[in-house]
Amino acid sequence: MRLILLGPPGAGKGTQAKILVEAYGIPQLSTGDILRSAIAAKTPLGLEAKAIVDRGDLVSDAIVNGIVSERLDAEDCKPGFILDGFPRTIAQAAALDQMLIDKGVKLDAVIEIKADADELVRRVIQRSKESGGARADDNEEVLRKRLDIYKEQTAPLVAYYSDKGLLKAVDGMEPVEKVTSSIKSAIEG
Ligand code: AMP
Repeated sequence: MRLILLGPPGAGKGTQAKILVEAYGIPQLSTGDILRSAIAAKTPLGLEAKAIVDRGDLVSDAIVNGIVSERLDAEDCKPGFILDGFPRTIAQAAALDQMLIDKGVKLDAVIEIKADADELVRRVIQRSKESGGARADDNEEVLRKRLDIYKEQTAPLVAYYSDKGLLKAVDGMEPVEKVTSSIKSAIEG
């Protein structure tokens, strides 16, 4: 099973990805998690990405495309994967198409987790409180910027994947378990 979870920051992509990892036995591939680990470990990638991630901008397509291409070659991605937070631009989606052609595999579905902007701000503020401010990008100002970037650069992927017949939308405002069951029915038909 090869899936993309698409949706604005705070819509629940990470939460749902972790549940689907258990359900389907395939790994979650979160570019945000990979970048945060690199930042914490102060690797060359982390040092380059830190300021960009902290202010809520997008890291360059070249960097994230490289991360994903390398990660998709790992043995645990052979049975499938759940992409969480990638692609985020049309250029990344086109790069992913080419990677999948090169690797000889196809996507099964792109799940759009739909969410209301005001509710997202509320959730992210809550997440920030619970994590004791662990994520520098979890504050209202940065979040509003991330939502704007989502609208401008990532939302066009909805039409991109819809045109390919891969898009399935679910309501991300429902309780977590309900969202999971909607995703499972969307995938399993
Ligand atoms: P996320 O955990 O998916 O919300 O990502 C956190 C941050 O990592 C984003 O605000 C970006 O700065 C960076 N990031 C994650 N994925 C991507 C991507 N596909 N393209 C560019 N930047 C990304």
